[in-house]
Amino acid sequence: MWSKEDIEKLFAWIDSSRPQMIELQKKLTAIPAIGPKGGGPGEAEKAAFVLGRLKEWGFSDVEEVRAPADDVPSGYRPSVIARVPGRSSERTVWVMTHLDIVPPGARDLWDTDPYEVVEKDGKLYGRGVEDDQQGMTSSIFACRALIELGLKPAFDVALLLVADEETGSGFGVSYLLREKEIFRKQDIIVVPDGGTPDGSMIEVAEKSICWVKFTVTGKQAHASRPDSGNNAHRAGANMIVHLDKVLHEKFSAENPVFDPPVCTLEPTKKEANVENVNTIPGEDVFYFDCRILPEFSLDDVLEFMRAQADSVAEKFHVSVKVEAVQKQQAAPPTPVDADVVKRLASAIREVYGVEPRPQGIGGGTVAALLRDEGFDAAVWGKLDETAHQPNEYCHIANMIGDAKVFAHLFGQE
Ligand SMILES: [Zn+2]
Repeated sequence: MWSKEDIEKLFAWIDSSRPQMIELQKKLTAIPAIGPKGGGPGEAEKAAFVLGRLKEWGFSDVEEVRAPADDVPSGYRPSVIARVPGRSSERTVWVMTHLDIVPPGARDLWDTDPYEVVEKDGKLYGRGVEDDQQGMTSSIFACRALIELGLKPAFDVALLLVADEETGSGFGVSYLLREKEIFRKQDIIVVPDGGTPDGSMIEVAEKSICWVKFTVTGKQAHASRPDSGNNAHRAGANMIVHLDKVLHEKFSAENPVFDPPVCTLEPTKKEANVENVNTIPGEDVFYFDCRILPEFSLDDVLEFMRAQADSVAEKFHVSVKVEAVQKQQAAPPTPVDADVVKRLASAIREVYGVEPRPQGIGGGTVAALLRDEGFDAAVWGKLDETAHQPNEYCHIANMIGDAKVFAHLFGQE
């Protein structure tokens, strides 16, 4: 553990690096690293820039791992690994961020150029400044503080800047997990790619995601002669109401790690059926968005849905097709008392003075890919969650504070 004096020196160095951190954000933002699925050239140029800086700043073993990709001009999707040797190499403390960004979207929704960072009221505006350059800049400057002050971390520290996080990670962390054995079970892995405005939430688990499409088929007819048809819309409407009720009864279990602590089972999209009022629809299509607690199996949920939909279909003499259009079983959660959670919590408490709470969320994060391989990983950052929105921003104070959290973490024995 750092001495009180070390902590003071580290935090003072980080505070004094505010202009350099802003400068790095500007440079990173000016090199848009959009993947080919978003119509961009990938991360090669941004990775080359960061690589040069990391070497210049005294990181050791700065390495680029290239995943071959024939749909980008460079022919590869790069991930960068930069290390700071610790007093012990028994474990490595990883901070994993991603190089790629999502496209800015409609330009008229932006008040400023998304690729030119603007500083205003203590915030930086630009595409990528929060997602994921806040964590990237914070973790780089936490390491720079150690290097500049000649302080050795307790364990080896490694920064991993991956490609392709926004479109599936096949050329990023999944490639690394498949091709390189860089992680060890005892390692501590932090992913600063999500969080809450007060910095108290440590994301440790996810719900399974299942989007289900219901296609109800009856028989189209003139609205004045319902006896000659079979109203698929009436059957569908009854089915929605029935499913809504029985699903909530059946999957009512609570898990306090999650917010909300229950499965969410929502009827969402409804496809248009007939164009005119005086036609009885022969087909009715609707969807449910289900976020299921990891203790349930998605196959069981789907089987239950099918049986319930069939029972309503039978009653209304229609047929129903039930399809999962998106189905992602949740990875095993990182335990709330895992080492990475405890260490991160103590650093957060120290820097931000809030009580950290490990929590599960309804959406997917890249940490799930690590958890699926048996590595404990925690997602954390102090941020407003403006990722993917127009006028994305990062609070400069959070970027500096997060750097202090990482510096604290790196000192823990
Ligand atoms: Zn992200």
